[in-house]
Amino acid sequence: MNTTRLFAPLFVLASLAALATGVGYDDTPQIPGQKWKVHDKNRPNPPTVIPAATFSHNAAAPSDATVLFDGKDLSKWKSGSDPAKWTVADGVFMVTKGAGDIETREKFGDFQLHIEWSAPTPPKGDSQGRGNSGIFLHGLYEIQVLDVYENKTYADGQAGGIYGQWPPLRNAIKKPGEWNSYDIIFEGPRFDAAGTVTRKASVTVIHNGVVLQHRQEFNGPTGHRNVPKYAAYDSTGPIRLQDHGDPVRYRNIWIRPLGTYDQPE
Ligand code: MG
Repeated sequence: MNTTRLFAPLFVLASLAALATGVGYDDTPQIPGQKWKVHDKNRPNPPTVIPAATFSHNAAAPSDATVLFDGKDLSKWKSGSDPAKWTVADGVFMVTKGAGDIETREKFGDFQLHIEWSAPTPPKGDSQGRGNSGIFLHGLYEIQVLDVYENKTYADGQAGGIYGQWPPLRNAIKKPGEWNSYDIIFEGPRFDAAGTVTRKASVTVIHNGVVLQHRQEFNGPTGHRNVPKYAAYDSTGPIRLQDHGDPVRYRNIWIRPLGTYDQPE
């Protein structure tokens, strides 16, 4: 009997267990096409990487971008049919607990989005209760915003994760109070005349200069503890920011359409 062979699988299991957080769920449905359950507590967390110090923040938007927040007001945003009621001060705005999610008045198709955010300091709470917010693309697909600096949570709930579906490739978070940037390239879904999805939505996410997602597909709109399903729509939607009760701050938000090749100058 070859003992190495016998014990190798046990060693692999033990290694996986050491990487896993133990935070999360084991009674949720299977993620389609993956070996993991939704918010699986045994799914390994991504490796941590310290982002390059030279990555610049709060720089001016490209000339063809739509500026969604210029440091002054939330006139481009609303909450339901009401004006957005989050607090604006000192060139940033802050999630205001109980004021609800806010979303852009304008809808967008396929786009490049730049957004900067900063987790509350001193940090409060743990797992999903620390600096939680989120960026919902088309108002449906969440890229998670969470303070994961020395804070364990389930893998598919990490900052830059496609919540409930795909963890980020790395953890590139900065310390609470420091500014993070997300550069998000999003392509919405397409549907045929019968309403069947013919191209799933996909996203590339760069966090502080580090790739977290690369053209990764969404299984459907974001859910909690469930497996989502697509329902046909016109493939446009707002940018929605989540009120999860934590005073996460945002600044310098701009968006531009992806565009097509061979446009005239
Ligand atoms: Mg969230």
